[in-house]
Amino acid sequence: MYWRKILDLIFPPKCLICGSLIASMPGLCSNCWANINFISKPACAKCNLPFEYDFGEDVICGACTASKPLYHKAKSVFIYDDFSKPLLHGLKYQDKTHLAPYLASLMRIAAGDLLSYSDIIIPVPLHKKKLLSRLYNQSALLSLYLHKSTKIPFEPNLLIKHKNTKTQTGLTKKQRLSNIKGSFMINEKFIYQVKDKNIMLVDDVITTGATINACTRLLLKYGANKVNILTLART
Ligand SMILES: [Zn+2]
Ligand SMILES: [Zn+2]
Repeated sequence: MYWRKILDLIFPPKCLICGSLIASMPGLCSNCWANINFISKPACAKCNLPFEYDFGEDVICGACTASKPLYHKAKSVFIYDDFSKPLLHGLKYQDKTHLAPYLASLMRIAAGDLLSYSDIIIPVPLHKKKLLSRLYNQSALLSLYLHKSTKIPFEPNLLIKHKNTKTQTGLTKKQRLSNIKGSFMINEKFIYQVKDKNIMLVDDVITTGATINACTRLLLKYGANKVNILTLART
């Protein structure tokens, strides 16, 4: 406590988005916190899309009814917008790895009971060329901190991205699906960790769900019992 106070004097705690002084680390100032669109109920029971009205528990949205996702349930912390963008971009492109423990703690809360029955945490992988240029996989980093706080086993090398796909940004849902098709595989070494297991698949952001569905399809093919999704943001 004493050292904490000294450290606060030397390095005053700052908001992770705007840099203004805050009471304690890590966190956001009241202004940035109020701007973030945190996802809460009511929301689609499948994909977590927020609803304007409360239609009751277990109600799923139109998109999930039309094309049922392969995963069991998805949860996200907040909506991807201009307010949450600095957190995602900081972690993904600006080497702000110090954001990961805080963001993972928000993900743990958002996951609710899904983590309580998860047997293993698996991040969506990056292709090794992308990993070399970026030096770390932001989803693996979030998974690592989730593992540290929950003690649920974590296997960052279970899924492999063996096809270096074009960036999904700017592609339509159909284009994303064909872009991502066949680009993931399972590392034979860890196959025993899939069969009959409840898997928590972690990514930074879910957009059309093409990547998540491709990974889920593969895990189910290899006998996973349930695949749940946990992301920091959703569009
Ligand atoms: Zn702020
Ligand atoms: Zn939905």
